[in-house]
Amino acid sequence: MNAPTPPAIPGPSSPFAERQAALWQRIGSSAAVLVPGAREQRRNGTNTYPFRQSSDLLYLTGFDEPDAVAVFSTSVETRQLTLFLKPRDKVREQWTGRRLGVDEAPSKLGCQAAYELSELESRVAALIDGCHTVYAPLGDDEAFDALLLRAVKKLRGNERNGSRAPQCIADLSTVLHELRLRKDEESLRCMRRAAAITCEGHLLAMAAARAGRREHHIRALIDYAFAREYGAPGYDTIVGAGANATVLHYTSCADELRPGELLLVDAGCEWGHHTADVTRTYPIAASDGSRPRWTSAQRRLYDVVLAAQQAGIAVARPGCTIEDVHAACVRVATQGLVDLGLLPRTADLSDLIERGEHRRYYVHRTSHFLGMDVHDVGQYFPGSAARVLEPGTVFTIEPGLYIRADAELPSDCEDLRGCGVRIEDDVLILAPEHGGPHEVLTAACPKDPDELLGLIGRGVTIAL
Ligand code: CA
Repeated sequence: MNAPTPPAIPGPSSPFAERQAALWQRIGSSAAVLVPGAREQRRNGTNTYPFRQSSDLLYLTGFDEPDAVAVFSTSVETRQLTLFLKPRDKVREQWTGRRLGVDEAPSKLGCQAAYELSELESRVAALIDGCHTVYAPLGDDEAFDALLLRAVKKLRGNERNGSRAPQCIADLSTVLHELRLRKDEESLRCMRRAAAITCEGHLLAMAAARAGRREHHIRALIDYAFAREYGAPGYDTIVGAGANATVLHYTSCADELRPGELLLVDAGCEWGHHTADVTRTYPIAASDGSRPRWTSAQRRLYDVVLAAQQAGIAVARPGCTIEDVHAACVRVATQGLVDLGLLPRTADLSDLIERGEHRRYYVHRTSHFLGMDVHDVGQYFPGSAARVLEPGTVFTIEPGLYIRADAELPSDCEDLRGCGVRIEDDVLILAPEHGGPHEVLTAACPKDPDELLGLIGRGVTIAL
């Protein structure tokens, strides 16, 4: 893979400055936006989980240290970004590495002021004084909610001296998440890169999918493919062999791969703080790596899911809704369930769908937004109707059919028992003038059922 341009670093002329400008425009001239970052989370003993900054703070500032809060405040006269962060500390930095510190923050991050986090409580009231509306992530963190309300109370208590408490406290999502939902050029660059690395990981998994190996061996190769490109899984990788493929969030990954069974791999690389999300399902090769084959039942099930996904992708365009995509997938999948004998052949297709009969096997929705978070921000039903998708929106299209090992099945469908198939790609809505109506970001990951047979179990060469 070609050497990538690294993800953007913060700075006055960075994409972060453009995102901040868009935020300023949305909030008007009498508002403040409070954006707390993530804290380190204890794993066990004195160990912590690998740190992941909050996507909101990353999106707006690129600042990647724990224990930070950004405050955007504006009045008719001024706009100010104030950052609260951990101070420089020679002793702690010996253990955990260089901190940016208060002195360098303004020049490196383009903020107008920077203070130690310990000063947040004493300074936040002044920063929101006179603002009509304060936006904050309500309900995420009780301590932060309480800090904000104490600041409001302090301003109320001082109104005779000229302080003005905010009249409205609104959720941060109402201003910020609409911005994050429509990906800018930097986000799309990161997502395309994440998609490319993800496809590499899936190709490696396919090449290694031989009987006798275990699910965690496949997961290890995916981890390696992501880490080699300075990425990491954007969510817990799912590698499910045989009936494990019917467990939607199967992550124990301890079982052996058996020849002729299906393997479901759901894995996405996060790169530059944006993640891909891809699922492929295919038969496991014999231990000698000889060309695998689909059983007749597996192939019929796979073809139904693939046709459903293609129907969903075909309707993805500016102006459609995720409900339209879901309906297109469900219609094809339900007809397929009838053809497979899993639903009654005598029934009317629309009746079956209306009664939700397909949900016996099609147990999840078809799509979610995708971006910095795997289940990315953005309301699905803003107002009273489904969101109309605009160019720049990225979402998954992932129909799946799962025939559980303990399902009650018609007697002529026993050969489908324990089979699960999901096929998932990441789709960007594009305007016609940019090559629309859509781009499948993960199109490089094979899913043609015959092409897959030439890739599975071929053997793996590890290279750095
Ligand atoms: Ca997935």
